[in-house]
Amino acid sequence: MIPRDEALAIVDEKLGAMRMPHEQVKTQSGLMRRIAKDQHSRLDIPPFNRSAMDGFAIPAGDACERYRVLETVAAGITPTKTLLPGTATKVMTGAAVPEGAARVVMVELAEENGAEVTFERIPETTNICPTGEDMARGDLVLEAGTLLGPLEIASLVSVGITEIPVMRTPRVAILSTGDELVDSPDLLVPGKIMNSNGPLLRSLCQRSGLEVVRCDRVADSLEATVDALTACLAEADILILSGGVSVGEFDFVPQALERVGQTIHFDRLAMQPGKPTTFASSQEKTVFGLPGNPVAVYLMFHLFVLRAVALLAGSRHEVCYRTGPLGFDYSRKIAGRLAYVPCQLDRDGAIQRVNYHGSAHLLALHQADGFFLVPQGASKLSQGERVEFLSMRGGFE
Ligand code: AMP
Ligand code: MG
Repeated sequence: MIPRDEALAIVDEKLGAMRMPHEQVKTQSGLMRRIAKDQHSRLDIPPFNRSAMDGFAIPAGDACERYRVLETVAAGITPTKTLLPGTATKVMTGAAVPEGAARVVMVELAEENGAEVTFERIPETTNICPTGEDMARGDLVLEAGTLLGPLEIASLVSVGITEIPVMRTPRVAILSTGDELVDSPDLLVPGKIMNSNGPLLRSLCQRSGLEVVRCDRVADSLEATVDALTACLAEADILILSGGVSVGEFDFVPQALERVGQTIHFDRLAMQPGKPTTFASSQEKTVFGLPGNPVAVYLMFHLFVLRAVALLAGSRHEVCYRTGPLGFDYSRKIAGRLAYVPCQLDRDGAIQRVNYHGSAHLLALHQADGFFLVPQGASKLSQGERVEFLSMRGGFE
């Protein structure tokens, strides 16, 4: 059994040099893609000295009794007249202010009389956003490997970048192993269970922007597993298996992986759940053999598979651990593994129990906000002690 961090380091090392090829897409179609190259601003933002208010731009110097209004400038229009002492230009929010403008006095403080304007008072604030205040042309906007969400897409477009190079989306095959699995409740004879890992992994992949090319089920036999692996690896960059990696008499995945030319880098982790998690690769393929129990599948997908996906895009994916006070005394009999225990956060941020029967208990996760961590070697944790916490709201982000 190897510790979690050693396993993560092995994934980093094996995949650090692998890269997906690039392709060019319209920025607005880039949701959930990863950019292939650093992106630098093509514009100054704002691109001109911009009014933050509807009001009157006035020049520097002492306040005048009244100002002569030269012109009205709407957003999108270029001012034509330079401000001189005693003159003002009416400007709208988002409009360029004219040459010579020192500040914009908001319209609420102004009284207009024909071609003249007077002000109740002239505040200190300039209400002008100067050219390049947010970002200068050439500044780094996003680094290579960044995953594009709505904010990233809008930011790229705002700095004039409407096309971007992105990594080809990794193709994923999912293979659920187990003679006990069925996909329809009509087939549930005693001893059979519903295959929930297939749909779990498929939707986790889809939510992460991966392309699922196959989602198959395979019986517990060496020949069937070898055939299924061969078919999946022919189409996919990443293969995710569930089940069949333990030490049971019908766990054929490790043997089958070797038969199809995959090198196994680890197959036993000092983690609970997740102990039999297996990581293998060959020249251009990456394989994760996840345990059969669904809570382990859910957790290991976020800890390991998403890390691999980021690495293939030349980036890193670090899950974010926080700490919180434990709301109860915790103890366990066997302390040899790092445990992830489903839990809730109460209103004060303390970590509280949820009813949890072990890693087959997928339904327990509905009550959970995340997992708290019990370090390897620790058999007791006391109420009030600060422990590590991994939020699962928003997919562990
Ligand atoms: P295994 O490692 O294959 O022995 O699987 C461990 C446990 O996970 C067993 O109780 C399996 O029935 C269960 N399991 C395996 N695959 C799935 C699946 N696709 N959906 C739900 N449970 C599963
Ligand atoms: Mg099995």
